[in-house]
Amino acid sequence: CRFRAPANGRYKPTCYEHAANCYTHAFLIVPAIVGSALLHRLSDDCWEKITAWIYGMGLCALFIVSTVFHIVSWKKSHLRTVEHCFHMCDRMVIYFFIAASYAPWLNLRELGPLASHMRWFIWLMAAGGTIYVFLYHEKYKVVELFFYLTMGFSPALVVTSMNNTDGLQELAYGGLIYCLGVVFFKSDGIIPFAHAIWHLFVATAAAVHYYAIWKYLYRSPTDFIRHL
Ligand SMILES: [Zn+2]
Repeated sequence: CRFRAPANGRYKPTCYEHAANCYTHAFLIVPAIVGSALLHRLSDDCWEKITAWIYGMGLCALFIVSTVFHIVSWKKSHLRTVEHCFHMCDRMVIYFFIAASYAPWLNLRELGPLASHMRWFIWLMAAGGTIYVFLYHEKYKVVELFFYLTMGFSPALVVTSMNNTDGLQELAYGGLIYCLGVVFFKSDGIIPFAHAIWHLFVATAAAVHYYAIWKYLYRSPTDFIRHL
């Protein structure tokens, strides 16, 4: 039995879909923690260490908050406000996740004088998105999607102006995977397991981005030369 989402409400997943929504992100919590710790270990200086922390926290927070939200929304029934709160957190963490995903590229690469402002501006956008969720959560879904895409694309303009373009191809591939995933994000109740499929796109894109960050921004210089 499946229910169409009311025009102003949320789609109610079947229990199989609920389970899939939980597991598709729960399985990534441990890899996210291990991956973050690895980047921290590979850091050569303080700035790389801080960036590994920021990126790692964004990565872990995304999968943890998402898993908790989906568990709460699955097991809820009497805890409406708790579910609502976690749904807001689930949406807010996406803004910080986008900022955290760009942070290694913005922090660890040489940027022009104007472009370097994106290092803090992206966090301002994340804060703006969070305030928006507080005020208008679920009211204007198109605006919300527009914010996500703006935040996802505007730092790309800065990043592509860098002198060192190593890894930008992978960065773009990851971005493309997120964009393809949005089709499923918007297909709740139309395509079965649409939200879990969206989760898999997020997981794949995050893995591609992690790989690029690990390979191009964190692998030690001597190791890199050996592979040339
Ligand atoms: Zn989700």
